[in-house]
Amino acid sequence: MQKPRKRKQPEVRQPPQPRIKPARPSISLGKPPNDPYPTHPRPTPEECRAIRDDLLAFHGFPQEFAKYRRQQPNSSFDQAHGFLKSELLDGESKETVLDGLVKTVLSQNTTEVNSERAFESLKSAFPTWEDVLAAESKCIENSIRSGGLAPTKASCIKNILSCLLEKKGKLCLEYLRDLSVDEIKAELSQFKGIGPKTVACVLMFHLQQDDFPVDTHVFEIAKAISWVPALADRNKTYLHLNKRIPNELKFDLNCLLYTHGKLCRRCTKKVDKQQTKESQDNPCPLLKYCKNS
Ligand SMILES: [Zn+2]
Repeated sequence: MQKPRKRKQPEVRQPPQPRIKPARPSISLGKPPNDPYPTHPRPTPEECRAIRDDLLAFHGFPQEFAKYRRQQPNSSFDQAHGFLKSELLDGESKETVLDGLVKTVLSQNTTEVNSERAFESLKSAFPTWEDVLAAESKCIENSIRSGGLAPTKASCIKNILSCLLEKKGKLCLEYLRDLSVDEIKAELSQFKGIGPKTVACVLMFHLQQDDFPVDTHVFEIAKAISWVPALADRNKTYLHLNKRIPNELKFDLNCLLYTHGKLCRRCTKKVDKQQTKESQDNPCPLLKYCKNS
């Protein structure tokens, strides 16, 4: 909450002066100033667009996110790149928001393959969320073992379900679709074990909101190409990038940077320790954006 600013009453009345808009970070009324680096001028919208296009040409759009890409509201990118618009392919079912949240919890600290497997296994052991809530914690843990951190994730999931039932009377998060980004953040953050990154992923993938999660890969790249000051932490990086990256580019840029970060050793600073053959044959398209290159 922002405190109202106290105005100093001038003791001596000044002669009228031309009104100059004071230079200060943009603070819109009622909203907290949420860019921690308001004077850091990058990334620019043009740079975001250029990197999106460079990474798209380099990797193609990552398959693992294609299903969510198809659910995104239309953008000029669709026409330019021949994407199917807002349609699911045969066999693709639209996930519920609760499915999405649990999937995101299961994806923490593990690979895509393992977390997918854990979710499938959970759903086959317990077909409904009511079944999960009624189950012994040990049984839930056993069903999600392949995703790692099973006891932590099981208790997080069970806590979400019991809080939801208590507050809303049913195991359903679809009501979030009608809320604003800030309201959704407030709702999801109430669950124990749900941090800003999980919230941002649910916003972007499962609620089709314009948000830009910062995971380890995105964070490393953002520092490498000086999108944030060198000493930035992950949360401030999240706040800064969400302010600066144009909304319509957030989804594609995020998926592409994440994929690039997983694959590129240069961008994640692993290159100093281990110069791979691939990185020489296939130079990183982000090199030209690094300040030292
Ligand atoms: Zn790279």
